[in-house]
Amino acid sequence: MTWVQQRRIGDFLVTSLTDGQFRLDGGAMYGTVPKVLWSRAVPADDANRIPLRVNPLLIQRGGEAILVESGLWDQGGEKFDAMYAVERDESVFRGLDAVGLGPDDIDVVVCTHLHFDHAGRNVTGLGEPTFPNARYVVQARELHDARHPHERSRASYVPATFEPLLDAGLFAVVEGEHELRPGVMLLPLPGHTRGMQGVVLRSGGQTLVYTADLLPTLHHAPLPYIMGFDSEPITTLETRKRYFPQWVEEGAVLCTPHDPEVPFARLTVGERGTYRAVPDAPAVSP
Ligand SMILES: [Zn+2]
Repeated sequence: MTWVQQRRIGDFLVTSLTDGQFRLDGGAMYGTVPKVLWSRAVPADDANRIPLRVNPLLIQRGGEAILVESGLWDQGGEKFDAMYAVERDESVFRGLDAVGLGPDDIDVVVCTHLHFDHAGRNVTGLGEPTFPNARYVVQARELHDARHPHERSRASYVPATFEPLLDAGLFAVVEGEHELRPGVMLLPLPGHTRGMQGVVLRSGGQTLVYTADLLPTLHHAPLPYIMGFDSEPITTLETRKRYFPQWVEEGAVLCTPHDPEVPFARLTVGERGTYRAVPDAPAVSP
């Protein structure tokens, strides 16, 4: 199967892409949730790692192309690839090619945050912008925190994926909620990092949300299923309680950055208030 799948959201055509698979420690991915609970749904390998995908999203309307997240860092060498069990079975470039686009055709790259598994393809191995005609949109707080990492965040930020963009003046820095284009909102979703943002599309009575790491996979939908990686987990909980009810009520289509199987989902809530994310079948194919 090809991973590239499309939906129409009013005037927008959205395409779920993938930049390959990797693995992270299952315990770290589920924070305080015991392994006996999460491992039923997501079996771990013999190094206790669980499979994840890197899922950028392409948004098109008129002649404009917005790429939400650029992909997984590809300059880490063999040691990096082995530690994270990287499998480059697909790439963001092959996905763009499938819809007739090349890197030159991207007008905007939205950086939800600057971790290596989200902004890893912002810059080529030669230090050039991968998408040379794009502005890279990031929250001011995220850019600050990426440039001033501490002992617990340093491993997630790779300066080579963002410093060359600063030097070239290609970042568009925003603060707080920001209407990028009519119907395209950048929404601060603090918790995983303080400066993380998601993307909300609204058109023709439909809503689509790119959740960033507020909801890394479908299995993370219950409110306390919060990653150990989060810098401020209680803030994550508050952000979830603020937006999950809204996304259920709007019937929003959700795109998660790391679900290994499902490109489009919806959020539901059961009688006891437990959230679940369920697959939402694609309406059109490329
Ligand atoms: Zn991530």
